[in-house]
Amino acid sequence: MVRTRFAPSPTGYMHLGNVWVALLNWLYAREHNGQMVLRMEDIDRARCHEEYADALMEDLEWLGLTWDEGPGGTYAYGSAVQTERMDYYRSILDSWVREDRVYPCYCTRARLHSIASAPNLGEERPVYDGHCRYMTEEERKKQTKKPSLRIKVEGPVQISFDDMFHGHQEHCLRSGADDFVVRRADGLMAYQLACAADDAAMGITHVIRGCDLLSSTPIQIYLIRLMGKTVPSYGHVPLLCDSDGIRLSKRQHGITVRELKEKGWTAGDIIGQLLYWGGALEQPEPMTAEDTARTVKIEDFRFLSKENVTVL
Ligand SMILES: [Zn+2]
Repeated sequence: MVRTRFAPSPTGYMHLGNVWVALLNWLYAREHNGQMVLRMEDIDRARCHEEYADALMEDLEWLGLTWDEGPGGTYAYGSAVQTERMDYYRSILDSWVREDRVYPCYCTRARLHSIASAPNLGEERPVYDGHCRYMTEEERKKQTKKPSLRIKVEGPVQISFDDMFHGHQEHCLRSGADDFVVRRADGLMAYQLACAADDAAMGITHVIRGCDLLSSTPIQIYLIRLMGKTVPSYGHVPLLCDSDGIRLSKRQHGITVRELKEKGWTAGDIIGQLLYWGGALEQPEPMTAEDTARTVKIEDFRFLSKENVTVL
């Protein structure tokens, strides 16, 4: 059975960029008589707020983009809310500590900044020099700083996958350089760990998300393999940008579902506009979620292989 997920972080009100990703996941699930999980990625408690999580669910319901599993429910994998899944992430980390697959990193922020290597795979991917990987137990005992935990990449390891919209992708993960952080020094679980663990545990078969996460995918595949779980298919869709090339997610005003609603937009207006921007309609025309599920297929979106779509 096809299972997709929409996994927002409740750090603000739902905007067009979120609706775009939710719509595609919902549509893909409907097209295949599958299910969609609404997963709340609220692990960063300082930035996430309950109020936004509630508003997100209200907005999704108003749009008609319903979910089969989500906050409030208890499933075979537990809760669909990340802050209610911390024991699960800890159990994975504990097993990796026992199996010697992670190591403590005592490097200061300043030291990490000074490692002068250019990222080789997308701008947001830091490169490490493996400094703490080969510390002896004696040396570790002398450290006073609280460590982060890094994964010990057994590289070089070639990770390849066929993106649903961008075709074959291939990346090499290297020992040391790609030993990414799975738990920060302050105890915060890394996004990569929580996301990969959840996709695997929740039996997600198709991960449809923005192109900004394309560089995270090899890491997440590596982690899911370490967990011994099935790797889902991935599809990275274009980011919605304004005419200055700024991602809608970086803008805060004028594009939230609530603001559009106040301006008189209906749910159908919003969905119809997204269908047009995605190349599934020749002209923007109002269309409800249900009508979309009846008449539009994922392959009708002509622009899914682009990295950006200019919309405003
Ligand atoms: Zn280190």
